[in-house]
Amino acid sequence: MVQYSWSNEAYPQLRLAVSDCLRGTECRYNGGHAQEDFINQSLESYAKFFPFCPEAPVLGVPRETIRLVDVDGQIRVRGTRTQEDVTDALQHYIDKIIPNLLKQNLDGVIVKSRSPTCGLERIKHYRPTGEWFGSQDKMGQGLFTQSLVKEAPSLAIEDEGRLQDAWLRENFMLRLYTLARWRNFLQSDPSIAQFQAFHRDHKYLLLSKSEVTYREMGPLVANATAQNRTEQLKAYEKKLQAALACRTQVGGMINVLDHIYGYFKKSLSDQEKHLYIESREEFRQQIIPLIAVIKLLQQFLQHYGSDYLSTQVILDPYPADLALRSKTTAYR
Ligand code: SF4
Repeated sequence: MVQYSWSNEAYPQLRLAVSDCLRGTECRYNGGHAQEDFINQSLESYAKFFPFCPEAPVLGVPRETIRLVDVDGQIRVRGTRTQEDVTDALQHYIDKIIPNLLKQNLDGVIVKSRSPTCGLERIKHYRPTGEWFGSQDKMGQGLFTQSLVKEAPSLAIEDEGRLQDAWLRENFMLRLYTLARWRNFLQSDPSIAQFQAFHRDHKYLLLSKSEVTYREMGPLVANATAQNRTEQLKAYEKKLQAALACRTQVGGMINVLDHIYGYFKKSLSDQEKHLYIESREEFRQQIIPLIAVIKLLQQFLQHYGSDYLSTQVILDPYPADLALRSKTTAYR
């Protein structure tokens, strides 16, 4: 486990808001739940959860199913059987819970997919007749998620369905862990030297996301002084969020691996060089997962040493047992 130069802890505890049915609470329309293993087993010991359910407190359990209906361009929420319009009641409750959730200093949110309230994307907008004609009709976000995005546009949000995809999961978790580190970093009232160390230790992580944004962040750190620290940190946070919202591409990651390899190149034997080149190529072709190449570089680091690399977050960004880099499909 790497110890970063600006932090006392390697893995911060995540602060995650989660649709309550995904936690296993029986709050769905039919009195059931939608318990999700990654959230409740893999993340349980690494996260503090802030569960929410916008429907159950307003409409009860069990309840009539609801859907989004486009009424003359206005999206309303109606019962599928009675057509009762529950938009205002739901919105009133949503407007109460969102500020409370946002007060919790969240690193991110996991919502239930396909829900007219919690859904993140592709929620059907039905016609008042109850019909939906495929591509002729629109789709959007659930009522709660749409309000949440409006209030906090830069918040990291995913749904449990999308998180089954190894690439989306890795990107989301890397984003959450980096934002959690940033949150703890800010709370530590950092000095300018610690700000510089934070940026230095994230160099290769940021480069793997967006070289352009990384280059724009440098001057914000270089020009930070005790007088302008607050503004520089704020501007840096914006850039950090923008960089983390980019999904890592294989090419960007290989570029970073090569940079790291470059630190050892002169010391490595021909056999070790060959092993790296072969592993890197196999990673590119999705024959082996990223973790195999990282382990090789960590071995070089252990053997040949490098103070600069020893605190690079990209080499150890989240707990190994989350196995986020163990699938060949985690990078595209
Ligand atoms: S999807 Fe959202 S509104 Fe529906 S039961 Fe789950 S938490 Fe409640």
